[in-house]
Amino acid sequence: MNATMSHTSAASLDPADWTQLRAQGHRMLDDMFDHLAGLRDKPVWQPIPDAVRGAFAEPMPSAPTPLAEAHQRFMRDVLPYSVGNTHPRFMGWVHGGGTAEGMLAEMLAAGLNANLGGRDQMPLELEKQMVRWMAELFGFPQTAGGLFVTGSSMANLVGVLVARTSALGGQSRKTGVERAGGGELVAYTSAAAHGCIAQAMSISGLGTDALRLVPVDADHRMDIVQLRAMVWADMAAGRRPFLIAGTAGTVDTGSVDDLNAIADVARTCGAWFHVDGAYGALGMLSPEVAPKLAGIERADSLALDFHKWGQVPYDAGFILVRDQADQLAAFATPAAYLSRHDRGLAAGSPWPCDLGPDLSRGFRALKTWFTLVSHGTDRMGAAITHSCELARHLQARVLAEPELEMLAPVALNIVNFRFRAEDGQDADALNTEIVADLHESGVAVPSTTRVKGQVAIRAAIVNHRTVASDIDMMVDAALAFGRRRRRAHGASVSPASSELAA
Ligand SMILES: *Cc1c(COP(=O)(O)O)cnc(C)c1O
Repeated sequence: MNATMSHTSAASLDPADWTQLRAQGHRMLDDMFDHLAGLRDKPVWQPIPDAVRGAFAEPMPSAPTPLAEAHQRFMRDVLPYSVGNTHPRFMGWVHGGGTAEGMLAEMLAAGLNANLGGRDQMPLELEKQMVRWMAELFGFPQTAGGLFVTGSSMANLVGVLVARTSALGGQSRKTGVERAGGGELVAYTSAAAHGCIAQAMSISGLGTDALRLVPVDADHRMDIVQLRAMVWADMAAGRRPFLIAGTAGTVDTGSVDDLNAIADVARTCGAWFHVDGAYGALGMLSPEVAPKLAGIERADSLALDFHKWGQVPYDAGFILVRDQADQLAAFATPAAYLSRHDRGLAAGSPWPCDLGPDLSRGFRALKTWFTLVSHGTDRMGAAITHSCELARHLQARVLAEPELEMLAPVALNIVNFRFRAEDGQDADALNTEIVADLHESGVAVPSTTRVKGQVAIRAAIVNHRTVASDIDMMVDAALAFGRRRRRAHGASVSPASSELAA
């Protein structure tokens, strides 16, 4: 059949002319390749002009716009004003850099319009293979179940929900938490844990009051002595520890909890051992980082993101559960319209919709598979090792500059530092301004956080494109902005101090 021949009805949304669409599609692809190949010469981020923001307040269109025109608007009004996490000098928050292969895979997945809620289809075999690969990578048994989700916020929620059902029994899904008769459930995570653990407690109906935030030690790791004491006190008071969530790579400083010690405590008190490995877990691919994750193989469930250190384009979160039966117990629900068969397209049970809250879901496994197979795990691991080396390079630069100081130890790839303020100058405000100056300059994008109550300039080096000279440019620019603000401060306080002198 001639591919250019049109068989469209008036209701179809297919193009009238595939040849024209093909040419336009190639232009769009070329534009994206040009963008990715030329990242380094562009600003990391730039403020959105009012006119550009305002242009998207238009009414919903009733008539068609040519694709070429929509594409032009994307190139002119959207692409230049995005977050910039593909850029080698993006070090803000914990964002992955993406890959061209992952981008192409997204196009293929969208072309299939694959819905991975269930049914007997090859796309699901790719997802199952990814579950087996992750079980192997993290030393989980063959009983393991897994599921792609949006991100680790959702993966941690799934982990908490599986732990809750495991503690209260399947009947609790019917009676609700209150009338399940499982006693007063309490959970533990460190004070440095991500806020989504508390959010998961809230969403699960257990409440954040039932989450104990265990203090951290000088290295920002969960204090195990305190954990034991808190567990013991709760048990003595008749409460029931049901979940301990360790973190492999805290979002603020990259610290890794002592997972073996937490596993021991969890075993002693009969609690579920969950690991939030959102960004750090894939450090398992790096021979340098892997030993720091010892004990992760003992987790009952593990949340991780392929879209951070795994460099897969957003979004690609993942939950791995030691025993798939626990996941099924928490989520599988019979429904007539989802009935299974042993043959035909309705075969292949269990389906992903039995393992988590989503029914319709995209083909996240494809971009993850493309990224992994096109680079191989050695190169993926080398990129992770390299980002840790760059963090040590940044630490060395900070230590060599008298105007800068470190605020936390470097565990993996996250560096917290700051510009020293002058006497009488507010250091928190100063460093907050320096980071905003950096953003607006387009030179580099770190973010801020608070470490022991102090505002830190936080550089999370995740992007595989970052090199040492990018780190140097960020440090040089931070120094320049810090000096300028210190001079300005000196100028603004000098009249007052001269008055004092007079
Ligand atoms: C990023 C992160 C999360 C949240 O994951 P999302 O993918 O953004 O939902 C949770 N925990 C840690 C430690 C993280 O770094």
